[in-house]
Amino acid sequence: MTDGARTATHSEDVSQDVVTHCPYCALQCGMTLRRTGERVEVLPRQFPTNRGGLCQKGWTAAELLDHPDRLTTPLLRDRPGGQLRPASWPEALDRVVDGIRRIQSRHGRDAVAVFGGGGLTNEKAYALGKFARVALGTRNIDYNGRFCMSSAAAAGMRAFGVDRGLPFPLADLGTADTLLLVGANVAETMPPLVRYLIEQRQRGGTLIVVDPRATATARQATLHLQPTPGTDLAVANAMLHIALAEGLVDKDYVAARTTGFDQVRRVTAGYWPARAERLSGVPVADLEAAARALGTAERAIILTARGAEQHTKGVDTVTAFINLALALGLPGRPGSGYGCLTGQGNGQGGREHGQKADQLPGYRRIDDPAARAHVAGVWGVRPDVLPGPGVSAYELLNALGTDGGPKGLLVFGSNPVVSAPRAARVTGRLRDLDLLVVADFVRSETAEIADVVLPTAQWAEEDGTMTNLEGRVLRRRALRPPPPGVRTDLALLSDLADRLDHVDGATGRGRQRFPAAPEQVFAELRRASAGGTADYAGITWERIDAEDGVFWPCPDEDGPGTSRMFVDRFPTPDGRARFLPVEHRPPAEELCPDYPVYLTTGRVLTQYQSGAQTRRVEALRRAAPNAFLELHPDLAARLGVDDGDEVRVTSRRGEMRAPARLTPTIRPDTVFAPFHWAGAARINSVTSDALDPISRMPEFKVCAVRVEKVPGELPPPGPPGVSAPTSPHGHDGPRGEVGEGPVSERPEVTP
Ligand code: SF4
Repeated sequence: MTDGARTATHSEDVSQDVVTHCPYCALQCGMTLRRTGERVEVLPRQFPTNRGGLCQKGWTAAELLDHPDRLTTPLLRDRPGGQLRPASWPEALDRVVDGIRRIQSRHGRDAVAVFGGGGLTNEKAYALGKFARVALGTRNIDYNGRFCMSSAAAAGMRAFGVDRGLPFPLADLGTADTLLLVGANVAETMPPLVRYLIEQRQRGGTLIVVDPRATATARQATLHLQPTPGTDLAVANAMLHIALAEGLVDKDYVAARTTGFDQVRRVTAGYWPARAERLSGVPVADLEAAARALGTAERAIILTARGAEQHTKGVDTVTAFINLALALGLPGRPGSGYGCLTGQGNGQGGREHGQKADQLPGYRRIDDPAARAHVAGVWGVRPDVLPGPGVSAYELLNALGTDGGPKGLLVFGSNPVVSAPRAARVTGRLRDLDLLVVADFVRSETAEIADVVLPTAQWAEEDGTMTNLEGRVLRRRALRPPPPGVRTDLALLSDLADRLDHVDGATGRGRQRFPAAPEQVFAELRRASAGGTADYAGITWERIDAEDGVFWPCPDEDGPGTSRMFVDRFPTPDGRARFLPVEHRPPAEELCPDYPVYLTTGRVLTQYQSGAQTRRVEALRRAAPNAFLELHPDLAARLGVDDGDEVRVTSRRGEMRAPARLTPTIRPDTVFAPFHWAGAARINSVTSDALDPISRMPEFKVCAVRVEKVPGELPPPGPPGVSAPTSPHGHDGPRGEVGEGPVSERPEVTP
């Protein structure tokens, strides 16, 4: 079943136009690409999620297609410390395959690892997982989505038996009487989504935002709770405590549809409001107002995002909010529920089809004998040749080049030199490898230190599918083929597989087993996912075209997809959702005299992820040319820092330098830095590599730091795409939040 009316598409009436979606975030805004002479123009289009809106990243996405930094030939480094030089494809592929063979013959199959990305299409994520397990025979594969969504994924799996970001259509947000956003700054990360918040408030709804910063989103809220970083769990438990005390719990729902409530009731008894205020800094009155607004609403939705997740207790924090949602009887009711706002473009699909360390396609577990037998059957290998589970992303990166760790790494769709926590150590580990291969379309910071760089296609040059934050499977369509010298990731994997012997001893079947045609890969993915949690068996490209996307699970071609989950039962063995008791605990690092300030990190409107793409787009670079450190004027006064001064942020792991940006919108005990920049402005040199014990997600959102004014000059510009500041503030506008609000300044186009 799909949601919303079918949208007219440009491709039906303009032959040069291609109907597709934005390459960046999980909102996957609908857009049309129009070729006008040599230029490719981006036009927004009506789609159920973006309703004709785009943010500046989407508007400018086509600028990278013909960017001067575009890679169109493979690059090789002949010796450590040498320069990358152009090479032919056969030479580059031979170098990769020779390196893999040499490493695996010396150190075993697990000595070659694969690192994927949450922006890869479903087909690529699937093919990468299969390539690792079948062509390389390694257990060592994981991806950067581990840094983004894995805590909510784990919490959803253990409470609901399934991990689908939003188990209801996005349009439900506009109909909720009360909407609670936890650690989500959608006004900057997904601006078109803000129109649902506007709709919700125009209908008289209450918007509550939980965030240590008064972000562009929090400033639109009816009520803003501003907790100390790392204390969201206490806030959630306190709200449930208040709901219990005031008789707001839906006892019938709890009795009929859940298990485990008594234990949770006992634990939340310890979170009386005054104690929660001491733990979190959120006033009792605000905790009570938030609990009452949720508990008395006819329709209420709770959404969490990275602010709740990127902690050493991220899974438990999300669980606390799920407990609250279940106690109020929200999941499965129209206009109500709990959801996670997925971040990366294919953050949802990318975590379903096998590029996770412990996973096989269809969200199957790799240690489940039945799952192994099913997938091995689709792949044409014996189940016993499939490796077991590997380790999580940071653990994998941290083991590179060490005794017993991988000696070779293939990177697809990721830039860990900038995006990994404790990035200086990770960069050192990458440098220690015998073979680092990076597939990318620009020389990202990770490509810069690679032994082999393989130029790959961009989003407008390939077909495939993406799964958005609602679990809606969408079509990505090619406007044009890749330029000469460039291959798609699927073609690249096919070429590599053809050069490698398969794990079962068969040879010469690489291209057959690893087809380069995305529709062929999707057909295989459907078979591999059939019967799994994320079942795509009934989804065809034709259906996606006809129905504005198809929601999984969709096991049957003749049956509807599932836009709204949990209506009658949860996909757990007994059909009930599970309450799980969770307790507040401090972050891995607490403040101390040497490191007396909390650091939290996040995004800005006009940059995306590690910035390897968006820092190269002129309009985005002008809007947000540099990193900055946001700090409260009271803290700045104590430190002797003025707006625009260069400051150094130091943690136990490293330092970062950037201009200070003074704002009263942040807590005086906390500083904030965006994570899109490299070089001296790389905040991940500072962030913590402490991991959640369940999801293995790093604690990006809080660590202890020292902030000092740096006398003298600003540091020189960083690697490509990092420009020097253009103003004493290091940004063009008052806050660099250009176009704050639902869409950019460009006009909307409604087909
Ligand atoms: S919100 Fe912006 S980045 Fe995200 S999909 Fe839409 S246009 Fe792209």
